Amino acid sequence: MIISCQKCAKKFNVDDNLIPHDGRNLQCSSCGHKWFFRKKTNVEKFKEKPIKKQINIKKINPDEQVPPVIDSIIKEAEKIHDKNLGDVIQKNNKISILNLFFLLLITFVAVIIILDTFKIQINNSIPGFNVLLDNFYESVTDFYLFSKDLIK
Ligand SMILES: [Zn+2]
Repeated sequence: MIISCQKCAKKFNVDDNLIPHDGRNLQCSSCGHKWFFRKKTNVEKFKEKPIKKQINIKKINPDEQVPPVIDSIIKEAEKIHDKNLGDVIQKNNKISILNLFFLLLITFVAVIIILDTFKIQINNSIPGFNVLLDNFYESVTDFYLFSKDLIK
C-alpha cells in the first residue's frame, strides 16, 4: 500500500503486513516526521467517496391510479368521517326536535294563560268561549290523569 507522509507528502510503498489493523507509529525517512498511521476503514473510505447514486424520485402523476391499498385506506377514513358527521347531525337533530317541542309547549301554555286572563272579554265577543276553555281544561286534566296512570 502507498502511504504519504503527513508533513512532506512523500510517498512510500509499504507492505500491508507491516501495518497492523489497529495502526502503528511511522516515521518518514525523508523528513523524520513521526505520526500514528491507521489503515483506513471501510467507513472512512465510504466517507471519502460518497456514492453518487442518482435517486430518481418518481413524480406523481395525478392521472395515475392510486394503489389499491392506499385507496382502501382513504375510503375507510372517509367512511369513518361520514359516520361521525352523521352521528353529530343526528344528535343535533334530536336536540333541535326537543327544543322545538319545549318551545311549542311553552308557547301553548303562554297562549292558554293569556286566553284565561282575557276569557271574560273574549267570551263577550265570542259567545261560548268560556265553555270551550272549560272543556279544554277538562281534556287537559283527563290527559294528565291518563298519563299519570300510564306511567304508573
Ligand atoms: Zn516526511
